[in-house]
Amino acid sequence: MGGGLRPQLDSFLAENETDLIAFRRDLHMHPELGFAEHRTTARLIEALTAAGLRPQRLPKGTGLICEVGNGDGPVVGLRADIDALPLTDEKDVAYRSTVPGVCHACGHDVHTTILLGVGRFFARQAAAGLVPGKVRLIFQPAEETPGGALDVLAAGGIAGVDRVFALHCDPRLEVGRLGLRVGPITAACDKVNVRVAGPGGHTARPHLTADLVYALAKIVTELPAALSRRVDPRSSLSLVWGRVSAGSVANAIPDDGIAQGTVRCLDDEAWHSAPELMKTLLDSVASAYDVKAELDYVRGVPPTVNERTSVEMFRTAVEAVIGEDGAAGTPQSLGGEDFGWYLESIPGALARLGVATPGMAGAYDLHRGTFDVDERSIGVGVRIMVATALTALWESRRASAAEPIGEPAA
Ligand SMILES: [Zn+2]
Ligand SMILES: [Zn+2]
Repeated sequence: MGGGLRPQLDSFLAENETDLIAFRRDLHMHPELGFAEHRTTARLIEALTAAGLRPQRLPKGTGLICEVGNGDGPVVGLRADIDALPLTDEKDVAYRSTVPGVCHACGHDVHTTILLGVGRFFARQAAAGLVPGKVRLIFQPAEETPGGALDVLAAGGIAGVDRVFALHCDPRLEVGRLGLRVGPITAACDKVNVRVAGPGGHTARPHLTADLVYALAKIVTELPAALSRRVDPRSSLSLVWGRVSAGSVANAIPDDGIAQGTVRCLDDEAWHSAPELMKTLLDSVASAYDVKAELDYVRGVPPTVNERTSVEMFRTAVEAVIGEDGAAGTPQSLGGEDFGWYLESIPGALARLGVATPGMAGAYDLHRGTFDVDERSIGVGVRIMVATALTALWESRRASAAEPIGEPAA
C-alpha cells in the first residue's frame, strides 16, 4: 500500500476533519427520509463539485454516483446510505434535528460524511496521478425503506465494479475499531401472508365443512416445524407468526382465515429457496385438511454475505492505517441491510465502524431518538475506506497482471 499513506491521511485530516464534522452536523440537523433526500443530495453535489469531481444524480432525483481516479484500471465501489428515520430526535445537542419526527438515528449522516471525505482525498490524489484505478463513490438513497439499493443497481451503479465496500456505525464498538465478519453479517427478513379458505358451517357438523380453524392452527404450528426440518439448521431460517385471525362466533366454522408472519434467514441459498419450499409445505398441510391455502411471500432484503477476500482487504487496511488492534470480530445481526443486494451481484463486504466513546460502548443504540456518535469515528472511517479502496485496487492490478501467464488465482 505504500508507506506514504498514513502521513498523507494525517495531513488530509488535519486540514479537513473539522469541516467534515461540520458537514455531518449540518446533515444531522436536516435529516430526510428515503427518496426525499433532495437537500442532502444537493449539499453533496456542491461539496464534490467543489473538490473538482463530477457527481451524477440518480434517475429518481436523490442519491448520486461519483467516480474519481486514473486510467482504465480496476474499479472499486464504496457505498454510503444517505437517508434518515421517521423518529423524533431526543438529544440535547446543538446539532439536533430541526425536522420534526425525522432523525439520523442509524448513523447514515456519518456514512455519508465519511464517503465525502474519501472523495475529497482521492480527488487530490488523482490530480497527482496517485490512484491505481478508479474509485466509484455510491451515495445511495432510501436504505431504510428498502429499494434504494435496487435503484442504484438498475441505474448501472455497479457496472464494471470489481468489489464493493460499505461501513455501518456500531454503537457497541469503541471508536478506532472495525468489526469484521466473513460470511453473513446481516439477515434476510421477508413477510408471509397465508390465506386459507373452505366451506364454513355449523360447528356440529365439521365433517360436512372444512374445519378451517383447525386447519389454520395446523398450518400455523406445522409450517415452522416442517421448515426447520427441511433446511440446513446453520441457515437459521425461521418463520414466526405475528398475526392469526379467523372466525367471529363460537359455534360457526368460518370460511376463511389468515396468518401473517416474518421469515428471517442468515444464509443466501436458503433465502433463495424459501418461497418455493414454503409453498410446497403449505400445500401439503392444507390438502390434508381439505382447505385451500394461498401464499403471498413478500421479499425484503437478502442477507449481506461478506466475501472472505474482501474482509481480508478491510483487515489489511485497518492494520495499515489504524493499527494491529483496530480489527475486531463482530456477531451476525438479525437485522436487515439492503447492501445485501449489491453482494448478490459482486463480491464485497460490510464492516461495523466503532462509534462509541471509549468506556461508553453500548450506551446508545441504533434506531433510537437518543443515538449519537463519537465524531472521531468520521476520521477513522475516512482512513479505513481510503486504505481499503487502495488495497482492493492494488490487489486487482496484481491479479490481472498475473492472468496472461496463466497463473491460477491463489
Ligand atoms: Zn437503520
Ligand atoms: Zn443503517
